[in-house]
Amino acid sequence: MLIKVTVLPGDGIGPEVTKQAVRVLEGLAAAFGHELTCTQKDIGGAALKSSKDPLPNDTLQACLSSGAVLLGAVGGPSFDSFPSHLRPESGLLRLRRELGVFANLRPATCYPSLEDCSPLRADIVKGTDILIVRELLGGIYYGEPRLIQGPTGDRSATDTMRYTEKEIERVARVAFELARSRRRNLVSVDKANVLDCSRLWRDVVTRISQDYVDVKTSHMYVDSAAMALVSHPADFDVVLTENMFGDILSDQAASVVGSLGMLGSASVGGPVGLYEPIHGSAPDIAGQNIANPVGAILSVAMLLRHSFKLKREASCVESSVAGVLAAGYRTRDVAKHGHGCLSTEEIGGKIAEAIRVAAACTENVAS
Ligand code: NAD
Repeated sequence: MLIKVTVLPGDGIGPEVTKQAVRVLEGLAAAFGHELTCTQKDIGGAALKSSKDPLPNDTLQACLSSGAVLLGAVGGPSFDSFPSHLRPESGLLRLRRELGVFANLRPATCYPSLEDCSPLRADIVKGTDILIVRELLGGIYYGEPRLIQGPTGDRSATDTMRYTEKEIERVARVAFELARSRRRNLVSVDKANVLDCSRLWRDVVTRISQDYVDVKTSHMYVDSAAMALVSHPADFDVVLTENMFGDILSDQAASVVGSLGMLGSASVGGPVGLYEPIHGSAPDIAGQNIANPVGAILSVAMLLRHSFKLKREASCVESSVAGVLAAGYRTRDVAKHGHGCLSTEEIGGKIAEAIRVAAACTENVAS
């Protein structure tokens, strides 16, 4: 198969983790006999520096004409004073909209070998396996009007949270379908005691749930869900929620299972999927070769599964990551106190090697 990917490393640790993800993808394509083409383009701050546009047209066109997009991260403190349409993040928001990827899937799994590095007790995180389905193209991140107005000292700011029934319905259906392939337990998270958007959200999810009577459906307020996520995370299966709540709860879930660097994501729903780790550009550790590339590498697994339907290859990436972690190899963010750790490059190399060995074993078994 031809695996045609546009790679957008972006800013900060984005290029460091993406390099390891591409290394894994190259190794996997070679091991399983696929043809791979990766076209690299700028986005975010890197694109602002080269073209004064956080999503240049040639980047967008490359993305639209590929089979999938692999992204690192965007943003950084040097852009904090830029107007909102010229901030790196606006390039990413525009890319998501142009690709039409309305459903963002964020799996948060506690690997048995990492139970000891959660800030929570091992007996609380043990068995945690959550899929957060975050609505990605609506809500307060996209609503208009949005502005700051008035003279300094007397300014006011407005953001608009807006949802249509259709926007809620389409992401809800994705979440219910995924729940059917998991433990058939879906919690929809909202703030229906305060927000009209959430009341509409709850109404629509309740209606859609009638088409999925085999899935146990419940509703939680976001404050209560945040609490439950740290008191009994293993009880969650699929969490369906709107854009901003999903952004926040998934960072929390990442921390519960060990580190923000561990989670990959898939943004689907349009003709071209977008795959990225859930973390940002981490300017505090950029350029030091210490970032955890596992989230970026697990995003490659999701890319293979969702955009190219290569289930065996996706599983090979996931089991190789699990094997490397089980063997005790870790980056600094998940290292055991007093134990050594590997660099970004080193752990990427371990995972690439594990894939090569696993693929060779599969071949031997087949022959
Ligand atoms: P962040 O996710 O970049 O970092 C938060 C903390 O987690 C930092 O201490 C960082 O060192 C750590 N961390 C993140 N990824 C890690 C990894 N792979 N390995 C080890 N540690 C890791 O969030 P932030 O500091 O709030 O934001 C920094 C910049 O990133 C901002 O400009 C923000 O707008 C941007 N951002 C971008 C995205 C994206 O590109 N999708 C997402 C979130 C934030």
